[in-house]
Amino acid sequence: MELFERMAKMGHEQVVVFNYADTGLKAIVAIHNTTLGPALGGLRMWPYANEEEALVDVLRLSQGMTYKAAVAGLNLGGGKAVLIGDPEKDKSEGLFRALGRFIGSLGGRYITAEDVGTNVNDMDYIYQETDRVVGVHRVHGGSGDPSPFTAYGTLQGIRACLLRKYGHDDPGKLSFAVQGVGHVGYYLTKYLREAGAKVFVCDINETRVEQAVDELGAEAVPMDQIYEADAKVFSPCALGGVVNEDTVPRLKCDIVAGSANNQLESSEWGTALEERGILYAPDYAINAGGLMNVAIELQGYDRDRAYRTVSTIYDIITNIFNLAERDGIPSWQAADRLAEERIHAISQVKMPYSKRFKDRLSGRRPHTTATNS
Ligand code: NAD
Repeated sequence: MELFERMAKMGHEQVVVFNYADTGLKAIVAIHNTTLGPALGGLRMWPYANEEEALVDVLRLSQGMTYKAAVAGLNLGGGKAVLIGDPEKDKSEGLFRALGRFIGSLGGRYITAEDVGTNVNDMDYIYQETDRVVGVHRVHGGSGDPSPFTAYGTLQGIRACLLRKYGHDDPGKLSFAVQGVGHVGYYLTKYLREAGAKVFVCDINETRVEQAVDELGAEAVPMDQIYEADAKVFSPCALGGVVNEDTVPRLKCDIVAGSANNQLESSEWGTALEERGILYAPDYAINAGGLMNVAIELQGYDRDRAYRTVSTIYDIITNIFNLAERDGIPSWQAADRLAEERIHAISQVKMPYSKRFKDRLSGRRPHTTATNS
């Protein structure tokens, strides 16, 4: 398919290719939709086999960011960048500073952040060239590791699920199965244990499991038994695609709610969960805490405000379930509809641009608004 045809099909506004041979820079920035505000999305560095693979990835990921920001109630659009290269071997100050200049040349339409293969040091190099970057070091007003916020938001989403299913939102009364106790899964297990819940955990990394058992009092289960664990909530916090043909019939839980991206191998498995009476918290809504947290950096970072904003995930998940009920559709579809309805509604606001709106688009200002909290 030709590029313009793909962009039209997926709804992209802009795709920019950056090349700077002196530093080995080959990057693509995809801006999907800026109706709600400047496009924010991470920079992924990956040894893509070819340009086509990189393009497919950046188009897909940037589209996902539009939905995530819209559902999260952020005044941000969706974008993403991919850097073709091996994060183990190909990083240099020059590479990221060259990319920083290119990102700066987009005039604020795209704001970058960490993603797979990039870290806070890389963001700091970019920050030396442009302020269109979040997730920078704390000394520059950055917010640090987003994982505790993602876990906290996931906990709020889980509580909304409990209320829907059981009429109370106390995780302490229930049991959980957490798949993957990495950055997010560990914090989520910690929060659940602090609430008094019983938590089963598994991870391919034995050390992580031992940590969760020794430090948090979780109970280890073998990896392939996590789906059948005697838990009310299954919480995928590792890989994508874990809700699929093989696992849906095996699940013993009432709720699937976790931080992993792209949990449904395809949307039909979200519908299959629904048909089995299992409540599903759409992944990009329940795991938006990390995005909400970095978005606060755009107004001058405030940790308390970040936690307050992330708490709104409780209401967001509730709204998704209400919409699903109203329209008689599965929750994964309701999340998409909520995002699309918000983008459509704002696109209909035809008032002339105010100075405040222009300021917001032009970049980081102390009194601008990137959230509606
Ligand atoms: P992480 O790499 O720190 O943790 C993932 C854990 O899963 C690791 O401990 C890994 O060993 C384990 N794992 C991998 N394969 C597994 C398997 N088959 N079974 C069990 N465990 C397995 O990653 P993270 O930052 O904790 O993110 C977890 C998930 O949440 C990812 O899908 C990520 O995309 C998503 N997410 C993370 C954030 C964030 O703020 N970190 C934000 C949004 C979404």
